[in-house]
Amino acid sequence: MSLSVERTGDLDRKYFFIDGTWAAPSGDRVQEQIEAATGERIGVASLGTAADIDAAVRAARHALDEGPWGRTTAAERAAVLRRFADALDKRAGDTATLVSRENGMPIALSQMLNGGAPAGLLRMYADVVENLPLEEVRASQAGATIVRREPVGVVGAITPWNFPQALAMFKIAPALAAGCTVVLKPSPETALDAYVFADAAQEAGLPAGVLNIVLGDRDAGAALVSHPMVDKIAFTGSTATGRAIGQECGRLVRRVTLELGGKSAAIFLEDGNVETLLAGLGNAAFLNNSQTCTTQSRILIARSRYDEVVDAIAGFADAYRLGDPLDPSVTMGPMATQGHLERVLRHIEIAKGSDARLVTGGGRPDHLSRGWFVQPTVFADVHNSEHLAREEVFGPVLALIPFDDDADAVRIANDSNFGLGGSVWSADEDRALAVARRVRTGTIGLNYYTLDLGAPFGGFKDSGIGRELGPEGIAAYLEYKSVYASAKYLPA
Ligand code: NAD
Repeated sequence: MSLSVERTGDLDRKYFFIDGTWAAPSGDRVQEQIEAATGERIGVASLGTAADIDAAVRAARHALDEGPWGRTTAAERAAVLRRFADALDKRAGDTATLVSRENGMPIALSQMLNGGAPAGLLRMYADVVENLPLEEVRASQAGATIVRREPVGVVGAITPWNFPQALAMFKIAPALAAGCTVVLKPSPETALDAYVFADAAQEAGLPAGVLNIVLGDRDAGAALVSHPMVDKIAFTGSTATGRAIGQECGRLVRRVTLELGGKSAAIFLEDGNVETLLAGLGNAAFLNNSQTCTTQSRILIARSRYDEVVDAIAGFADAYRLGDPLDPSVTMGPMATQGHLERVLRHIEIAKGSDARLVTGGGRPDHLSRGWFVQPTVFADVHNSEHLAREEVFGPVLALIPFDDDADAVRIANDSNFGLGGSVWSADEDRALAVARRVRTGTIGLNYYTLDLGAPFGGFKDSGIGRELGPEGIAAYLEYKSVYASAKYLPA
């Protein structure tokens, strides 16, 4: 079943991937899939019910407990993961185009993060599990203890629409490497690209039931979270949803990792280089049209450099080229959905009613009559207690805030419910590092901000619980077991 990404024709996907095969939905609810840049219908996707989730979870449970997957060695799983990666590579170009149409991501970024990254993650976790001692023997008082790392079990993965392929693979790759089985419930706004995983998994010969995909909205997500046969939930999405999922997992004593929202700070110190800031600001603040959880939407600027940096950032924002994300010369695409555009515009209106000063942008661009576009928008003189400095906008709206000295910058950066991304800009990298060490956040860059898939990623405070990525990311999918044994198991 291959995907057509031509602009003509429908991409209707009215089936789920359960137990290694295409399954008809139990209900008849569908969601229209709308192209973000045009507002036109691309296709429809079925929405799953609790019954579809139940079928998928049972398949995952069976594959783990009865099927071959539960008895595979790390090397066998690594081989399957590498075949899965090869199958995704073949589809990378189409996948990138499809996601850009779904959520407005500029095509070059989509080629990296939807086309390329998922296969890279599968290969990385194949290497990780091959090099991880899954069983270690230690001397004990009574003889020996065999310390085992076992798969946590059936994983329910729930993902958002902003980086649909990468964020799903942040979970699927370490889970499969660890020996778990997975039920993925992607976001209904980007339902169509999820089928790429199913296609590629089939081609790679992933055993039936090891990866199952059921599309659906929050009801399907909630059914997955509370299903009695699920052992662990891996969630990426908003803090509000994460809180609800965390509560339910607490009640059920279910393992859970949460990757949530952010309101990260970029800190420009008095000795910062403006050229360096502008070279890195695209990644730090406007990546994926700012529909990125690590977006540094608060820019803290040393007061002695404030006017110069405000002007430079305004010019930088004005230079963005808005339009069709499939056009490689376009640097900013639309918001993912009409509903999300309306949310972003509401945040802008609230900021306009505050004491903040609108420097540039502030609404929809005049020259784009269709699609969910919003101008890159910059507000200066924002107080850190104001709405715009506290709430995640998830769109290209920056709050510029002056500070007095490095200690004041750290204080303002940390005065937030969130702690996910961040950056420090200084001609003296050691000085930047000293500031970075004091910011309570999961990731922070010195004079640039680029996600490193090889290092742990996650949030402090309301930005989440747990870490994904890097070799450390597999820990969330493993459970320790200590077997007390005789000394005969000790290495000679
Ligand atoms: P969302 O929380 O609305 O939805 C995320 C997923 O959860 C979707 O699949 C949705 O169908 C499902 N869902 C909704 N309610 C549910 C419930 N009660 N039970 C179970 N599942 C439920 O988030 P979104 O709008 O799709 O994504 C944007 C948010 O994601 C932003 O806040 C952003 O910061 C966050 N995000 C975080 C990271 C990270 O790694 N920290 C990465 C990307 C996005």
